[in-house]
Amino acid sequence: MSKEMHKIEGKRVAFLTLGCKVNSYETEGMRELFLKAGAVETEFGEEADIYVVNTCSVTNMADRKSRQMLHRAKKKNPDALVVAAGCYAQAAGEKLSAQEGIDLVVGNNQKARIVELTAEALLKKEAQICAVLDIGREKEYEELPIETVTERTRAYIKIQDGCNQFCSYCIIPYVRGRVRSRGEEEILTEITRLAKAGYKEVVLTGIHLSSYGLEKEKNEVRASEFDLTLAENTEKEHTELPLLPLLRRVQDIEGIQRIRLGSLEPRIMTEAFVKELASLSKICPHFHLSLQSGCDATLKRMNRKYTTTEYKQAVEYLRRYFDKPAVTTDIIVGFPGETEEEFADTLRFAREIAFSQIHIFKYSRRAGTVADRMEHQISEQAKAERSDALEAVERELREAYIRQFDGAEEEVLLEEPAEIDGTKYMTGHTTRYVKALVEACGKALQANESVQVSISGNKIGDGVAAKVL
Ligand code: SF4
Repeated sequence: MSKEMHKIEGKRVAFLTLGCKVNSYETEGMRELFLKAGAVETEFGEEADIYVVNTCSVTNMADRKSRQMLHRAKKKNPDALVVAAGCYAQAAGEKLSAQEGIDLVVGNNQKARIVELTAEALLKKEAQICAVLDIGREKEYEELPIETVTERTRAYIKIQDGCNQFCSYCIIPYVRGRVRSRGEEEILTEITRLAKAGYKEVVLTGIHLSSYGLEKEKNEVRASEFDLTLAENTEKEHTELPLLPLLRRVQDIEGIQRIRLGSLEPRIMTEAFVKELASLSKICPHFHLSLQSGCDATLKRMNRKYTTTEYKQAVEYLRRYFDKPAVTTDIIVGFPGETEEEFADTLRFAREIAFSQIHIFKYSRRAGTVADRMEHQISEQAKAERSDALEAVERELREAYIRQFDGAEEEVLLEEPAEIDGTKYMTGHTTRYVKALVEACGKALQANESVQVSISGNKIGDGVAAKVL
């Protein structure tokens, strides 16, 4: 079975048969294939997501009728995928596929593959908007190396571009195109250069970091690759994700002391993957796992492909293999259709996970996305109230997380001087991204220096006071 098959699940499909009994028989076969793949049948006269016209070419009249029916389908739902199958499709294939409105032409010897071909065509159709914007799915990663970075101690390295996830609220897959990963050698060369320039901490970033290298591995860029790699859910798959070999090589770069990872998918965090990560001493115990909602129904509408149970499991693995890891996240409040109960689930779940930090976003409509067309948009006032309520929980959780380190000895990479109420500090972050305001205690402290400190527990602004040991 093709790996794009999940694209068919839940889609409304309508069939129309022209011509002979053989065609009727074959339509039946195709119908079964679609239903088996999870599609839902609907009447040809109704609105559907996929129309299959099993055409006939026995006469000119049959040709004309076939064309008419194909156009009728498109008229019924311009967003639908219109598939021409059968004899006329076979005979006039090229002419048909050049015609606006016909999305897929399936010849007679391809009917057994119709579901697979339709799934592929659905993916291409999603990519068409990209083509208009000249962001093609074939486009290679655009190399844009950096020599220096604006932050003095932390270098952000882009290792990947594009996203194939199509979350319903997000325009990125349309404007950035498909996943393209930067070559390992280019990344390593850049990090080595930055390490030689004195940088000790690197943050690997991307639009969808978890997809790093997958398009090269599978030799094709497909929206579903990431899902399928994870759906197969074998330990082997996860330890073989191309991100790990890259991380192992970054770990070996002299001068680099800390590797931080940008936003990751919860689904990437299998036990095997987390165990491998934990074997790399330079990986910071700080993970940003994008959540977006703590309610399964909302997640589904968002087209996020994990459940809260899976999310929780991912965090449990992190806590099993890392000591007090910081787990940070993003949450959107006021997504279309989010009820008070659904929002309450998010609040509950945030507490359950005990995030160390939450970035809160009020849902904002984005033309061209699925969510923009959803019913039950939430009022700005409700969004603001939910944002405030979640902020209160966030503050509580963040403070509780930081309190765990009262009196602890930590390593801080110093960033810049600060003076607060007449006291001079050097600011910096621990490996868990706790901000520390470090008192020099008579020692000369420098930016980009790594020091051992004792955390006092006193809160100063958004950080905690610390003293050099
Ligand atoms: S939210 Fe992230 S994962 Fe979802 S489509 Fe946008 S970039 Fe991709």
